[in-house]
Amino acid sequence: MTQQKMINGMIFACLLSIGFLLGMPDSALAFKVPIHEEITREVFADFKVVAGSETLKFTDYAIDQILKANKDTDDLPNQVNSEKHFDGEDFVGGSQRVKDLKERVISKVTATEPYPTSARNDLGTASHTIQDFYAHSNWVELGHSSPNINTKIGREIFSGAEKNIPTCPNDPGTLGGEGLRQLTSGYFILSNNVACGVPPGKCRHGVPVVCSTGINKDDSSRQGFDTARSLAVSATKDYLNQIFSDSRMAGNVNAIKLLMRINN
Ligand SMILES: [Zn+2]
Repeated sequence: MTQQKMINGMIFACLLSIGFLLGMPDSALAFKVPIHEEITREVFADFKVVAGSETLKFTDYAIDQILKANKDTDDLPNQVNSEKHFDGEDFVGGSQRVKDLKERVISKVTATEPYPTSARNDLGTASHTIQDFYAHSNWVELGHSSPNINTKIGREIFSGAEKNIPTCPNDPGTLGGEGLRQLTSGYFILSNNVACGVPPGKCRHGVPVVCSTGINKDDSSRQGFDTARSLAVSATKDYLNQIFSDSRMAGNVNAIKLLMRINN
């Protein structure tokens, strides 16, 4: 870690501390934790898989574990990992992450020696990243409404606007120009050694109290929140469908029960 990075990290930690003192919710940099919880519980509690003569559902125990892994993705040390939240135009990192986690979930419950607890943790943290895509990118502003999710998520790696393309050309808190045509997401970490700064021409995530303008749709006070939330619900379901329709999972009652933590 360079000295500059350390200083940036310290300033960032201070800004967060100020936010906490002023009553900022503990997850100001993602869909608020209760919203992640609501979305995740809603999707997982309703989700059913038909295998043979049985209709299978996630148990409450499994759902609680998945919810915790989703929530923990917003813990402070994880906030600086842009790929966990589709922050800072890290679409390659984010899309690679959810694709890799899908593979890991399937591998862990279909292995000769399965690791179902670890598979559920992977599923929980993947669901967080998927949900953040809709809260942190301009997918909504590009004209997509539910159920028009980004079907590349979980299936392929994709990128967004190039580094030299301004997406918030006039003001870091307002999309404009190519930001209304190309995929982009907000930066929230210190950049150019300026609090709330972003790379030139790029967009800001927006942090309550500290620098509130930005493009995030993390809570109901933000424009586009309702659309982002319903897209996140659809996308979380789609990811589950990808997992359970994989050739190693479909009809594999044992693996399905392991992941859903259904004891015989
Ligand atoms: Zn997040």
